[in-house]
Amino acid sequence: MKSDKKHDAKQAEPSVVIVCRLEADGSKGPPESVRRYLLSDPEWKDRLTEGQYRVLRQGKTEPTFCGLLRTQRNHGIYCCAGCGLPLFTSEAKYKSGSGWPSFFEPFADENLEESRDTSHNMERTEVRCKRCSGHLGHVFTDGPEPTGLRYCINSDALLFVPQDKIKEAPAEAYAAAAGKLEKATFAAGRFWNVEEAFRTVPGVVETTVGYTGGQTEEPTFEQVSAEETGHAEAVEVIFDAGQISYKELLDIFWSIHDPTQDNRQGPDVGSRYRSAIFTHNTKQLQEARRSMDVQDASERFTWPITTQIRPATRFWRAEEHHQRYIVKNGSHHLKG
Ligand SMILES: [Zn+2]
Repeated sequence: MKSDKKHDAKQAEPSVVIVCRLEADGSKGPPESVRRYLLSDPEWKDRLTEGQYRVLRQGKTEPTFCGLLRTQRNHGIYCCAGCGLPLFTSEAKYKSGSGWPSFFEPFADENLEESRDTSHNMERTEVRCKRCSGHLGHVFTDGPEPTGLRYCINSDALLFVPQDKIKEAPAEAYAAAAGKLEKATFAAGRFWNVEEAFRTVPGVVETTVGYTGGQTEEPTFEQVSAEETGHAEAVEVIFDAGQISYKELLDIFWSIHDPTQDNRQGPDVGSRYRSAIFTHNTKQLQEARRSMDVQDASERFTWPITTQIRPATRFWRAEEHHQRYIVKNGSHHLKG
């Protein structure tokens, strides 16, 4: 029997997939291409609990009526315990009596991968996470209206994010990789472009655009644009330090803008477009300074670098229509 079914990172699988992201209000974002979250077997073992590993990476099924999320009734989103991709909503959860969490529809069809499973002498449809290929469970056709489907999912494959925590979903949802994920914050001109530059870099698991480095609490785009707040347009990057280093992110940062332009990037003029690195710990601060010295000493830039390096202060998430702006609107909107 295929009890040793594995879903290790396979070189042959595409490195980019189309999925839908979670918007801050809990709704579904537009389809976008993201890097697959591919880890080696030892890395998965290191990041997941024993139960999560057995389900997600070995394709095992947890005992019936045991899963912690089976009776969860709160309002929120169920994300993949391996990579944080949103998979189901509490609105689609129902009591099936099967002993496993059951849903009549996914958060987004795009976020699931289905395949024929003939193990255990049964004909079933296996459901996996699109982003990390983690095994989730199976889908059957004996579900309730309106879909008639029953997604029978292992609790250990899921992480529940309550509705009021969705704004912080990246941190919550990537709990499975806790200890391996770090945060970096960069300002390098218009945040739409900066987010797009970091979004699909391998090892980057989440990006958010927002405002930081200023004084005003809960700033709006209009206030920041009027230069009333002192904030810079910035991007918060959540990255897997085992996949990409902070130094490599700094190299990308230097390559995507002109750090010698004071308070502007091309046609975009104002202190909100300043070049800045907001560091989250002493190590980042030292690495950023060292990296800037290397860039300054190189022949790369004609003028001195004006980039500010500052300890990070509160990051205010920007309005939802600014998140993934280029995915939503295309790059033709960017002409200044
Ligand atoms: Zn996943």
